[in-house]
Amino acid sequence: MKIHVIDHNFFTPRVIASYLIENGGEPILIETGPDTTFYKLEKSLEELGYMVEDIRKVFVTHIHLDHSGAAWRFAKAGATIYVHPFGAKHLADPTKLIASARRIYKDQTETLWGEIQPIPKEHIYAIEDGEMIKIGGIKIRAVETLGHTSHHHSYLLEDLLFTGDVGGVCIENGPVLPPTPPPDINVELWQESIRKIMDLNPQFLYPIHYGKSNHVKDHLRELESRLLECTEWIGERLKEGRTEDEMVPDFVNMF
Ligand SMILES: [Zn+2]
Repeated sequence: MKIHVIDHNFFTPRVIASYLIENGGEPILIETGPDTTFYKLEKSLEELGYMVEDIRKVFVTHIHLDHSGAAWRFAKAGATIYVHPFGAKHLADPTKLIASARRIYKDQTETLWGEIQPIPKEHIYAIEDGEMIKIGGIKIRAVETLGHTSHHHSYLLEDLLFTGDVGGVCIENGPVLPPTPPPDINVELWQESIRKIMDLNPQFLYPIHYGKSNHVKDHLRELESRLLECTEWIGERLKEGRTEDEMVPDFVNMF
């Protein structure tokens, strides 16, 4: 089995990855990245010997646009998109997804995330927690890992775990940080997911941001302690009556 880390070069290198898995048979793509970098992904796939139409199975950890923004393009080319059941309806009808992106990114939404089209239902597969899909010689299992969002799966492939955002962000051996976008962070569920991943005891983690992580236990411990640190920091400031606008610049400079 071969795992290719494909860099989307999203404004800067090594920030957003897709993973292409080859096992002699049908290739599998994990995370599509945003629509805005689809043409780069297409080029990278070509360099690996694949056309977009060759990718028939695409797994996304959740529906945030940096993970699944280009899923509709793969569906249009014939692929099935595997996604958490709560995310499935938003791929079929992205109205709310687009509206919530607009609330956060305002007039930068199109520049950052490009176009989002609905995916026909027959191209969406709502994969349940624990469900295993066999593709050629590969078995890939969905592991529900909530906390970052209320609809997040990690994908277990042998002893490798593709962790989307729930496994934290770690760029160039930097700190392991919890990506905490609004609106549906749940710290307790996130801690539960970290424990679940610990129990699975994978050999390596593959977060989308960015690339393989070798030191799984240390990585997860650091993630949990930063998550609690952030929660405490925000809790203290909320008690002081600080507004979100006041907190954001300090929060950004925290690390
Ligand atoms: Zn996310």
